[in-house]
Amino acid sequence: VAEKQYLMTPGPTPVPPQVLAALAEPIVHHRGSDFRIVFARLLKRLREVCRTESDVLLFTASGTGGFESAVVNMCSPGERVLSVSAGNFGERWTKMATTFGCDVQELRYSWGETPSADDLRARLAELGDVTTVFMVQSETSTGVVADVQALAAAAHEAGALVVVDAVSSLGAVPCETDAWGLDVVVSGSQKALMTPPGLSLAAVSPAAWARVAASKLPRFYWDWQRVKAAQDKEDSAFTPAVGLVKALDVALGLLFEEGLEAAFARHVRLGRAAREGAKAMGLELFSPDEDRSAVVTAINVPEGIDGKALVKELRDRFGITIAGGQGHLAGKIFRIGHIGYFDIFDVTTALAAVELVLADWGADIERGVAVTRALEVWAGGAPVA
Ligand code: PLP
Repeated sequence: VAEKQYLMTPGPTPVPPQVLAALAEPIVHHRGSDFRIVFARLLKRLREVCRTESDVLLFTASGTGGFESAVVNMCSPGERVLSVSAGNFGERWTKMATTFGCDVQELRYSWGETPSADDLRARLAELGDVTTVFMVQSETSTGVVADVQALAAAAHEAGALVVVDAVSSLGAVPCETDAWGLDVVVSGSQKALMTPPGLSLAAVSPAAWARVAASKLPRFYWDWQRVKAAQDKEDSAFTPAVGLVKALDVALGLLFEEGLEAAFARHVRLGRAAREGAKAMGLELFSPDEDRSAVVTAINVPEGIDGKALVKELRDRFGITIAGGQGHLAGKIFRIGHIGYFDIFDVTTALAAVELVLADWGADIERGVAVTRALEVWAGGAPVA
């Protein structure tokens, strides 16, 4: 196994050294005055990254935990909800809301399709009394980034509230919680927020708070009102992962130093470089060839190549971890993540290694052009196809 490790999945993602250093500090007590300063600053920074004036609740959990908190605080048993599903994570929210006894309807697409506001409008009109629409901003399993602003507008026209999975998109692509009227936005620490896994967050709008007061599903750890009551006093309801709280605070400081807009622009350029590089060597994209698809580039495995073996070979030979396909796409696509602590040389490294393995294995690709093309596009000197 190669010694140097390159983490190039769409989560978890590499963590900057300053963030790792925060994790190496001694553990402090979560009710102490020193921790409260960090906690309060982090809550403010979370509002800033979510672009909201409302509350952002913090949980020690993975992203799925944050999403479960949304289901149990927003819904009541038997209530009709709609899940917009076009991949692994959309399907997960369907299963989750079903588990909690909601009457879950779907706007279901094939994996890789991009949900449309017109389809949502039509489906909501057909169904009638939907209270909540669950949607995914960045469907990490396919590379599609949906237009949640347009989807949320369609849901609101029908009187429904929206819950957005922004686990792999927050900090990478614009997510304007207040300006777009997103009622709930859920994310996690381990993707574009450049922190290890273990924290999740939920931005909760005033309209969502009104719903919480009336919703009937049981909750304790996930009880948003309990968490808010503590956070309003710059305190936490339970023992948070103190090291991760400090780490996320440092990571958001780094993100703001770069500037959110600059970070979004960097992600667009990384996505372009990955797509153009892959196409230049003769590979076919699975994810859409569009700037919005700036989170993860999904690529079809070429004819005659074993996709699972490709992912394994990259790891064993070069220490490069990329992601394979999920669900029925296992072995058929591979995915190069480029969110968070990524620069162009991460993208060229991934492309170069994929090229080496594919060429060795006799795939029909062109050698020596992918990296050049990616660099050209990154530099902005070449038009994007
Ligand atoms: N939603 C999306 C879009 C994701 O990419 C992920 C993680 O891969 C999740 C939800 C689930 O998050 P977690 O694995 O942190 O529970």
